[in-house]
Amino acid sequence: MSNNSNNGTVPVQEFEYKAEMKQLLDLIVHSLYTHPEIYLRELISNASDALSKVRFNSLTDQDIIDREAELAVRISIDTAELTFVIEDSGVGMTEEELIANLGTVAKSGTLGFMQALKEQQKELDGNLIGQFGVGFYSVFMVTDEVTVETRSAKPGSDGFRWRSSGQGTYTIEKIDKAERGTKISFKFKESSKEFAEEYRVEQIVKKYSNFVDFPIYLGEKQLNSITALWQRSKSELKDDEVNEFYKFIANDYQDALDYLPVSVEGMVTFKALLFLPKEAPPEMLYRQGDLENRGPQLYVKKVLIQQECRDLLPEYLRFIAGVVDTEDLSLNVSREVVQSSPVMAKIRQILTGKILGWFETLAKEQPEKFKTFYKAFGPVIKIGLNTDYTNREKLIELLRFESTKTGADEYVTLKEYSERMGADQKEIYYHSGSSRAQLLAHPNLEYFQNKGIEVLLLSDPVDVFVIPSIHEYDKKPLKSIEKADIDFSSQKNEAAEPLPENLLNPVLKLFRETLGEGVEDVIESHRLVSSPVTLVSGKDGLDSQMEKMMKMMKSDMPAGKRILEVNTSHPIIRNLAGMIMANENNPLIRTAMKQLYEGALLLEGGLDSTTAFLSRMNELIEAATLSR
Ligand code: ADP
Repeated sequence: MSNNSNNGTVPVQEFEYKAEMKQLLDLIVHSLYTHPEIYLRELISNASDALSKVRFNSLTDQDIIDREAELAVRISIDTAELTFVIEDSGVGMTEEELIANLGTVAKSGTLGFMQALKEQQKELDGNLIGQFGVGFYSVFMVTDEVTVETRSAKPGSDGFRWRSSGQGTYTIEKIDKAERGTKISFKFKESSKEFAEEYRVEQIVKKYSNFVDFPIYLGEKQLNSITALWQRSKSELKDDEVNEFYKFIANDYQDALDYLPVSVEGMVTFKALLFLPKEAPPEMLYRQGDLENRGPQLYVKKVLIQQECRDLLPEYLRFIAGVVDTEDLSLNVSREVVQSSPVMAKIRQILTGKILGWFETLAKEQPEKFKTFYKAFGPVIKIGLNTDYTNREKLIELLRFESTKTGADEYVTLKEYSERMGADQKEIYYHSGSSRAQLLAHPNLEYFQNKGIEVLLLSDPVDVFVIPSIHEYDKKPLKSIEKADIDFSSQKNEAAEPLPENLLNPVLKLFRETLGEGVEDVIESHRLVSSPVTLVSGKDGLDSQMEKMMKMMKSDMPAGKRILEVNTSHPIIRNLAGMIMANENNPLIRTAMKQLYEGALLLEGGLDSTTAFLSRMNELIEAATLSR
């Protein structure tokens, strides 16, 4: 420290930075230069902190200076002169505070982090920097010399001017300063002159500090349009304002479907404002369910820390946009710390519960909204079912299905299904395929339709991976109607007249001979009403839709063998029995059998080539037209 003199009267003291500080400054200037704009975020964030402190102090301290002053941040620039001034009416600093705060690295670990940053220079993205407050010193990215004039809000305080070129020393002198607070001024380096443009300042403020809780003025103009909405209670929120905020943070062009304000105090303290978009985000549409890199914004004490914080929500819920603001993390946390912090784990757990409760309430109180939501995000709920075991029960209640008893685009829940099923029905039935129309036309449905038994119609490709994993609901097993082991015995088709064994057995035998290795077995059906045959899977076989999906993912998967069920009360089957009695070598019998089998395959989308099918069809038409 050395004493110089200023105008011969007021002493100017010169101080030396600690060695560590020099290294830090060097790193800031040479490593972070790719994102110089963050200097403004840091200065505003400091000003905002200082304002928060003075706001708090004035609650209890009657004697602070300028108790009535407006709490605000004022920026002014001179585009021609390349000068910049930012001024706040916050707590200010005493001389001791100036030395302690602007002469040393406040946080331990800061330097280590900076060095790590430098080593991985290729990964120096804005997001990474965003998690780390490089603080006041980031200003040296855009200028060669900074002046800080400050006066503490403490009664009887003096003003001080701090000045440094970030080269190893700084000076402090006493000045006259009328108001409390801090004023920081400097001239931009030529390479940073863009920041002396009004539009640029406005842009940066909007990007990083739009929701700072105090007005930020550039000249007369207030730059931050909206204050921290998430700090308000539900009754204080106005829909249009909230939607404007949503569109801003989520980059959506339309309003949100719904929003949820959250306020939690206890083990952790945080406020959140969450949004349900009307439509699925593009990555979900284009890359099926991929929400890997999404998440709400993380604020700590009203300062934006991370734009898309993945750790706030489990992946399947990351389509939810919004802001989470907590008091329980430090502003200077790194991504690793955020990730592994018990605070984050607790916030995630609480948020997940709140969100699922929100869906539940929507389903109950605003079914139309819930439907829109479910159409866009239903697949995501199903993914959650297989990843979030803690909330599995809740997620199962949220599932919605079309069924044989709903219209197209109408839904039933498992609860409703289970409550309205007949007393002697023991199982919950589902049928999976590619579309409602295709499902409704399937012969396997005939029995159920005839008996008035409700069948869930699953046409979402995800369904086949998810629904079987539910196993049972309300102690009722979920079962695919194409499984061979459904018990039809108690509800036999009374109207039908089955073939006697002596006629039936030769039919089954000849079917087996004709189809050979193509099928696992040929058996008498109890489920068919108007179709002659159908294909089902064995007890342990895969549902056909499931098999199709598996094949799409793994093309060399061998096809599982199916069982052909034959409707012995159908005229075609009865006629075949008659033809066998007359002459079992009549080639028309085998042609008809092959055709019936391939027709069933065709219906399921499992017929690979239609050439043989068509020529056989012509053969049969020829025979039919000949006999007339
Ligand atoms: P951080 O803000 O992360 O603590 P900084 O290097 O940005 O680190 O600032 C160091 C300290 O300087 C702050 O903690 C604060 O005490 C003080 N400070 C900075 N700017 C202001 C300001 N505008 N008003 C009052 N104090 C300030």
